[in-house]
This record gives sequence, structure tokens and C-alpha cells, in this order.
Amino acid sequence: EIDVVFSAEEAHEADGECCKGCKGTSGADDKKSVSIKKSGCHGFCEIGPLVRVEPQGLMYTKVTEDDCESIFEKTVLGDEIVHELLYHEGEKEYIGEDDIPFFQGQTRLVLKRCGHIDAEDIHEYIASGGYQSLAKALFDMKPDDIVNEIYESNLRGRGGGGFRAGTKWKQVASQQEKERYVVCNGDEGDPGAFMDCAVMEGIPHQMIEGMLIAAYAVQAHEGYIYVRAEYPLAVKRLKLAITQAESMGLLGDNILGTGFSFHLHINRGAGAFVCGEGSALTASIEGKRGMPRVKPPRTVSQGLFAKPTVLNNVETYANVPMIIENGAHWYRSIGPENSPGTKTFSLSGTIRNTGLIEVPMGTKLGDVIFGIGGGIKNDQEFKAVQLGGPSGGCLTKENLDLSLDFDSLKKTGAIIGSGGMVVMDQHTCMVEVARFFMNFTQRESCGKCVPCREGTTRMLEILQRIVEGKGEPEDLDKLLVLADMVSSTALCGLGKSAPLPVVSTIRAFRDEYMEHIVDKK
Ligand code: SF4
Repeated sequence: EIDVVFSAEEAHEADGECCKGCKGTSGADDKKSVSIKKSGCHGFCEIGPLVRVEPQGLMYTKVTEDDCESIFEKTVLGDEIVHELLYHEGEKEYIGEDDIPFFQGQTRLVLKRCGHIDAEDIHEYIASGGYQSLAKALFDMKPDDIVNEIYESNLRGRGGGGFRAGTKWKQVASQQEKERYVVCNGDEGDPGAFMDCAVMEGIPHQMIEGMLIAAYAVQAHEGYIYVRAEYPLAVKRLKLAITQAESMGLLGDNILGTGFSFHLHINRGAGAFVCGEGSALTASIEGKRGMPRVKPPRTVSQGLFAKPTVLNNVETYANVPMIIENGAHWYRSIGPENSPGTKTFSLSGTIRNTGLIEVPMGTKLGDVIFGIGGGIKNDQEFKAVQLGGPSGGCLTKENLDLSLDFDSLKKTGAIIGSGGMVVMDQHTCMVEVARFFMNFTQRESCGKCVPCREGTTRMLEILQRIVEGKGEPEDLDKLLVLADMVSSTALCGLGKSAPLPVVSTIRAFRDEYMEHIVDKK
């Protein structure tokens, strides 16, 4: 917050009335208070960096350091609009966020506060209704009521698997063992995914509030946030948020005088994609090498330190406060019955409007790509979209009517994954895409089980030689046999899903693979 000193006359011009009500006649210098706030991500990356000026509600786009002076002089101190910094689409000029088609097509519930409040100030979160759900949970609900509310809401884990969160919570709450943990998976490692990053950086308290409610529901007293070390800003803001919540009696011992205690710690990952898998993640927190283990036992009975553990991802926890606030019935009214709520997606690749979006589950893929996303850059043709990163599948023009929800996507052989969408135009080589993702998973394989360690290596070798023009027509069948073997016998989700990009691209673009093989002979 800074105080800008200027004359009463100027103050009168700027505000219509200066602070002392002198109508500009006092002649005395006066002050105007201006706050500069660091918010989280607004979502529209394509036109960033963004600056919003309140109370005018102006959104300035592609702002450079050189633009700051004119924004300050003209809009903050005066009442002038810097038109060249507004968002333009064709001939049309858009003044504020609410008018911009990119935002209009969305339903921002989880991300409602993201980009609107100061991410480093707990007071702003509280002023926007934050921690009210925690208070409701602590004072008006019993732990079992909360578990039932989450179960009834049918909230499904947003980390990729789509497992019903309420079922996990019920299973943890019913364990004999009283030492329990609540863990948040913030190890978002998929290329092209940045949803969880935005939540941790922009609304860290919302996620912490969700974890606190989970902890009270299952009566856990210790929790961990496992966050990628590649997200230093998220780590910084989470640390700050924990300190602020502790200082206000919202975290730690005797929360809000209820006698309930919950301590939250941050564990930084070291860049291993496999640590996003539940058992590898808990092993990593325990100080062991991050490797998946055979299940059962499952995390709900023997998770962190072999104790019952609720393990959900960032977006799942960020959904919890609004379910407690508005009820399961309200939540189920959004999206399809079996996949209620909204989902955040990150749009990247050759799409016109890259950014972070949130839509109701069940939104059509085509509406996301051609509506909110604005279609393909430079008027090129849409070819495919890789959904769910290296664990996901490739969708094509034939899938544009597909409903984005867990079950509809599963039927196509793709998965919603954590929500990364990499869009490709007609110039993209799909064999190269498959090779890129296989290269990623092969490098990230922990090597514990043979099907994944050897299978992904052999698949990568075949893809490599096809890309280099040394492939044989039988290579496609070999790839499919290997894919089936790896998917059905690998130990963990990383291995099981590794062949998906290859299988889905062969299914949709077999001719393209054959062109590589035949053309280069
Ligand atoms: Fe490790 Fe791959 Fe086996 Fe998973 S499937 S345990 S990543 S080798």
C-alpha cells in the first residue's frame, strides 16, 4: 500500500471529492491511498501479464514495465482508460474481465477468487468468505456429517483417477488405528499442466481450508502438502499461508478454541514424475526413495508411515470448502450425475487462447477448444488434443462432441487425467508426439518392475526408428503388443498408462505412421 501525495485540486479531479470534503478549495496537499496487490493467476495466459484496476474494473493486457507509468498516471490517479492496453478481439474492445468471451464461457467456482484476491494476505481470503466453511464444519457439524456430505456430493478426485473422495474419507474414518494423516498431492508433473500450480499460488488458503476440513472429518492431526520443488512460488505462498493461518488460530493446536488440533507441513518433491503416484509420494515424504509399492494395502488403511491416510490432490481439496458451504445437493446439480462439479483445464499448444480455464464437467470438448479456446492459432486446422499428459490419450475431430467427464472419456480410451490439454494443428507429426510422451515416461519410469522398465524402453526404440525413417510395417503390431503387455502388467499407474498416447495415436493416425515407414524407405 502506498500513499500518493498530490494537491487537493488533483484529488478533487481524481475522486470528484478529496478526502477532506473540501471540493478542491482547501488548497492543502492531500493523499490518495493506492494498493498494489500481487494476485494469483487470472487464467488468460495468452494476453498476460494482466493488470486489473479497481474499482474501475479495467483489465489491461500484455502489460510491460514501460506501460506501468501510463497506467498509474492515467487510470490510477486520473480516470482515463489506456485503450491500447485493453483486450481487443477483431474490432471489438473489451473493458473488463466479465465481458471477455474467454471468461464468459467458463464457470469459475474453484478459481472464483484466483486472480481476484491478494494470494499472500489471509485477510483477503477471510473477507471473501474464506474459512467460513471450516467454522461451519467445526461448530455446526460432526465429523461423520462432513464425511457423509462429501460422499453425497460425489466429488471425484481431480488428480486423474476420478476415485470418489467421500469413499476414501469414509474408509479412513472407519479405521481402528487412530493415528491418521491428511496428505495433499501437489506434484503436478504432466507436461502442459498448470492447474494445481495456479491454485497453490493464487488461493493457497482455499486448499488448506479443504485439508483442514478433511482432517477434522477423519480426525487426523498431522498433514503434509507434497509440492514440486519446480514450483518455488507455490512453496513460498503455501509456507506463508500456513504461518498466517497458525497465527490466527486456524491451524495448529486448539483450532478456534474447539480443542481440535491439526499441524500442516510442506514436503518438496525433487522432480520425479513417479512421485505423483500415491505410494511413491508417501514413501518420498517418509524420506525413502519415491517408488510405488504393490497394493493392497491401500493408502486409506496403510498410507503415510503405514497409517490410514486421506490422499487427494490440490484441486480436490480446493472443492471441499464450497461443498461444505453450499451442500452436496447443490454440488450435484452442477455437471453430470456421475461426475458432478467443475473441472479446471490448462490449454496450451497451438490454441488461440492459451490459459487456465474452469468449466462444468460434461462440457463438450469442441466448446472448450473452439469456444473458450478461440480455435486454432493463425487460422490453422485442428488436428488433435492430448488430454491428461503422458498418461492420457489423443482425441481428434471425431471426438469434438465428447462430454468432458470421467466416464465418457474412459469409454474412448483416453482419461481426463489432471486436466492438461495440449492442442495440435495439422502440421503436428503425431508419431513425434507419441515418441515425445514415450520418451518422457521411459525416463520417468522408476525401474522397479520389468514390464514398465523394459517395455517402455523397447517401445521408445521402435518409435525412434519410425521417426528416423527406419521403421518396418510390423513395427505397429509390435508396438500394440508391447502396449498391451505394459498396460496389463505394470505395477503402477505410470506404467499402466504409459502406452496410451501411442495406442491412441496409432488408432487415429495409422496412415501417418505408415507414411513414415513407407515414405522414408
Ligand atoms: Fe516403477 Fe514403472 Fe513399475 Fe510404476 S510401472 S513401479 S513407474 S517401473
